[in-house]
Amino acid sequence: MKANISHLRELQAIDLKISTLDKEIAASSAEIDNRRVSLDGHKDTLVQLTAKIAANEQRRRELEAELEDEQARIKDRQTKLMNVQTNREYQSILKETEDGKKANKQREEAVVQLMEQIEALTAQIEEETKICDEDEKMLAEDIAAVEKKTGQFTAEKSKILKARESKASAVTVSLLKKYTAIRDKRNGLAIVAVTSGVCRGCFMNIPPQLYNDLMKEDKLIFCPTCHRIMFHQAETEEE
Ligand SMILES: [Zn+2]
Repeated sequence: MKANISHLRELQAIDLKISTLDKEIAASSAEIDNRRVSLDGHKDTLVQLTAKIAANEQRRRELEAELEDEQARIKDRQTKLMNVQTNREYQSILKETEDGKKANKQREEAVVQLMEQIEALTAQIEEETKICDEDEKMLAEDIAAVEKKTGQFTAEKSKILKARESKASAVTVSLLKKYTAIRDKRNGLAIVAVTSGVCRGCFMNIPPQLYNDLMKEDKLIFCPTCHRIMFHQAETEEE
């Protein structure tokens, strides 16, 4: 049983290494996905800001055309004023001219407002572009790092798997089955040390009789709480 426990411990170490590497790569990939989502958000904002500026520019051009037309009508009326026959007609043209001037003043104010908005939007675009550039740079760095890590892992993995295979074949099929079943159920940890009467898998005390049995190292003993395979470890061995 002592040899079996030793094989299982080595197998556990290998499996933990594999799962750590797998988790690292998965975490990095998730980070990349998050960065991509954030970058897409900023790019969407850029598209929206650009569309807003275009709409403002369009409105500004319309207003400027209206301003010009109105200005031309005001000029026409001034020419007409010289040839009017009645006071009533004179007053009417005068009023139209005043109304036209008032309308143009409002248009001019609206144009100024639009230009201010365009300026603010342009500043926002600059800011968003900066963020996008930085995000893109970081994304490229992250992708390169993950590719490197994955490459290293893949190169290492065949070696690790070969070592795993030899460890796995050193124990009986039924023991390997037990180990795998516990590992699947217990968060990747199937065999745990017991130090000072405490299971290091669940940190619960184990009964004294069980502890005595464990010291004998002549049969497989499971933790009564977390049901993992246990082995005795002197405190000095603790990591
Ligand atoms: Zn336990």
